[in-house]
Amino acid sequence: MNELDFDTPRFTIKKPAVRHDKQGDASDAERSAAAVHAFLRDMTRSAATYMESCIRCGHCAEACHFYVTSGDPQYTPIWKLEPLRQIWKREAGPFSWFHKKLKKPIDSNRLREWQELLYDSCTLCGRCTLACPMGIDIAALVAQARRGMFAAGLVPHELWAVAERAEREGSPLGATPRVLKERIEWLSDEHGVDIALDRPRADVLATLSSVELMKYPQSLVALAKILNRLGESWTFRSDGYEATNFGLFSGNLAWQRDMTLKLVDAAIACGAKTLVLPECGHAYGAMRWQGANMYGKPLPFRVLHISEFLAEAVRAGRLKLKPMQGTVTFHDPCQVSRRGGATGAPREVLAALGAELREMPPAGDASWCCGGGGGVITLHRADEQRYRAFEIKMRQVESSGAQRLATSCSNCRLTFDDGQAHYKWGRKMESLLELVAGSLAAP
Ligand code: SF4
Ligand code: SF4
Repeated sequence: MNELDFDTPRFTIKKPAVRHDKQGDASDAERSAAAVHAFLRDMTRSAATYMESCIRCGHCAEACHFYVTSGDPQYTPIWKLEPLRQIWKREAGPFSWFHKKLKKPIDSNRLREWQELLYDSCTLCGRCTLACPMGIDIAALVAQARRGMFAAGLVPHELWAVAERAEREGSPLGATPRVLKERIEWLSDEHGVDIALDRPRADVLATLSSVELMKYPQSLVALAKILNRLGESWTFRSDGYEATNFGLFSGNLAWQRDMTLKLVDAAIACGAKTLVLPECGHAYGAMRWQGANMYGKPLPFRVLHISEFLAEAVRAGRLKLKPMQGTVTFHDPCQVSRRGGATGAPREVLAALGAELREMPPAGDASWCCGGGGGVITLHRADEQRYRAFEIKMRQVESSGAQRLATSCSNCRLTFDDGQAHYKWGRKMESLLELVAGSLAAP
């Protein structure tokens, strides 16, 4: 038998180019027309103003983890919007008559190439938006552009599949109502804690992320322990529990609305005064800031992220906590802090825990994204750039000098766990909610 030679390559195998996915069997012309129609349909006055306002200063580039860690100009935030800008200028801008003479209509090849820029290399984190001196909301425009891509059937398959599953089964990870019921029964028995499900009336409707249910189920136990200790009238409901919203990520507005309305209907059905969102960043954006738009009128209940709910309980003197050990740094979920405005809440909770907070440089609204938001963590083809972006986060954590790290988003936690395994990094992300549950003082 010949000896195998593992060391000497006989020829070079080039890394395959990114495969661009498509759904359905529409022709290229039909796809382009569908995308252009959707882009223009969603072009509000503010979006149109954004299109005309860029002064090409480049500040947004230095704010984007995908550009900073690659140095590749195609990953600059403003380049990600270029096809949208071209369509706007040619089809509807003030000088469209002129641009029509100069430019051909956008073709579906260009849109296909654009898929990677809009989905794989944007977490919708909004750090570029914060940096832009012209106030251009680049993250919102990327989300808008994704809707055009969905209409054209040009979404990465992995993301499309989880979004479609969420629409069909009620959860992107198969956490159906039956799975929810079984898991709650098991967790109740295992931890000896009463986890309320399907109570007909409740002041607080608790919701969850299926990432928690399937990967971090101790989060549900932590939430139940805290709500029980506070003496809240509360419940999970099997007709509205999943707070993640992959309709939002994939660019399907109808699916986004369906996911939102399930929670709205469940809250109304049990007469909830407060809907508490789980440790999930985009769930907060989807319900707190877009929920009323999906519902078509003001929501008849309050919407709080769990960190806000805990901070309120701390402020009211209702939550008595034992001090936790060690110094801690906090990773701000982009959609809760920078995009959501609830930057102070987790810090109030950490202060109540007596934690010595060592902030990362920079922290709060300016903190760097973990690299896994916006649906990016679902895309294996984006792993390499996601890991590269995560290096910034590891440096931030290490330079804080803190012994422990915590966050209030299970998707960030998942990204940290995956990055930790990839780099064999000896750090473990903890959940703020679980830290609180583990520090409840005796009544
Ligand atoms: S939203 Fe975040 S990931 Fe997307 S372009 Fe801006 S900085 Fe980069
Ligand atoms: S920071 Fe704003 S104005 Fe400057 S290049 Fe980026 S989008 Fe344009």
